[in-house]
Amino acid sequence: MKKIQVNSSRMPVYRDAGFELFDADTAKEAFERETEHQRIPELFIYSRYRNPTVVAAEEEIMKLEGCKWALLTQSGMSAVDTALSIFQTGASTKHWLFFSEIYGGTISYTESILKQRRGLTTFSFSPEKEKYDLDEFTKLVQKTKPGVVYIETISNPMLIVADVERVSEIAHDSGAKVIVDNTFATPALYRPLDSGADIVIHSATKYFSGHGDITAGVLCGNDAELMKAAIEYRKYIGHMISADEAYRLTEQIQTFSLRFREQCSNAVRLVNILKAHPEIKKVWYPGLSDHPTHPEAVKLFDNRGFGAMITFEFSGKTDQEKKAKRDNFIKEVSDHIKLIPSLGDPKTILMPVSSVWAAKYPYPGMIRLSVGFEDYQTLEKTITTALH
Ligand SMILES: *Cc1c(COP(=O)(O)O)cnc(C)c1O
Repeated sequence: MKKIQVNSSRMPVYRDAGFELFDADTAKEAFERETEHQRIPELFIYSRYRNPTVVAAEEEIMKLEGCKWALLTQSGMSAVDTALSIFQTGASTKHWLFFSEIYGGTISYTESILKQRRGLTTFSFSPEKEKYDLDEFTKLVQKTKPGVVYIETISNPMLIVADVERVSEIAHDSGAKVIVDNTFATPALYRPLDSGADIVIHSATKYFSGHGDITAGVLCGNDAELMKAAIEYRKYIGHMISADEAYRLTEQIQTFSLRFREQCSNAVRLVNILKAHPEIKKVWYPGLSDHPTHPEAVKLFDNRGFGAMITFEFSGKTDQEKKAKRDNFIKEVSDHIKLIPSLGDPKTILMPVSSVWAAKYPYPGMIRLSVGFEDYQTLEKTITTALH
């Protein structure tokens, strides 16, 4: 088969499992330099190691996070696994500290994989009145001397904003590495690596893709040693994303800034409607001055926006009344707003809080909205009609 060079402006989808290495000497050199991490840029070996279409997508993410390296994986969870596994060496493995309000899948991962299977000790740090008390955090860090501190910029579902800058300082002062899941905030609001985080991870399934039709993850950093360790781990465990998914992500990520700006703007407008509505008892949104971590949001996001996630609770004298209002709302908006357990989709989607986070948030009148970038008038009308 003859390979032709064409005048395409796109990075093709290279579906090669193994790439052609021509002769024994080239093959030898390629393998030697690959394991030494001295890669020959135009010579690829095997797609589980490295793939040109994947590299192109990673470069787009590096621009967004403003970092030296980004590595794509086939899901957010495989990025979480990679980030956490590369620190499992020597003394730093002993005790790790996780903020309690992190993604449910990550909590399950720490329990089932880190603790039960790998024998790690982990500590959890919880918010006090919907806000992290960093004096208490400092005490806990000094007492437990964790090797790793793991946090999310904006938490789920109460949208607690962590002062990642201070958290990084406190953690680094005691020699811990800092991993930040920046999925909810995105680099459009905040770039944790700029203020000292060691690794940033994203579920690219969410805002980076923004179309709800691929599963992908990414970890980003600046440190060359961490990059080597992450490349190695991704290769040996096989967390590599496919060229097809990477290609689609490259296409989708081009509109990320536009989409996210529109999602944030829709969210702010919707928050005002919800806040003023008599059927709504309370609205959680980091942009509201009564949100417990509004000051942290102002400090970190510096007028770039407050995200596109909103949590609210129906008013009612009893739990039963609140539950009835919630269930009716879900039914009434369902033509336009679907109940989908994800976020960052083009259209607004919702999750009843107690269906997923009942252990911590058993309140039957609460709904979490992931606001989309659809026409705002349609969105507002759908919601106000359902609320009567
Ligand atoms: C969805 C999500 C993940 C997991 O990502 P997947 O792509 O589903 O594996 C991790 N962290 C946060 C904050 C998420 O929302």
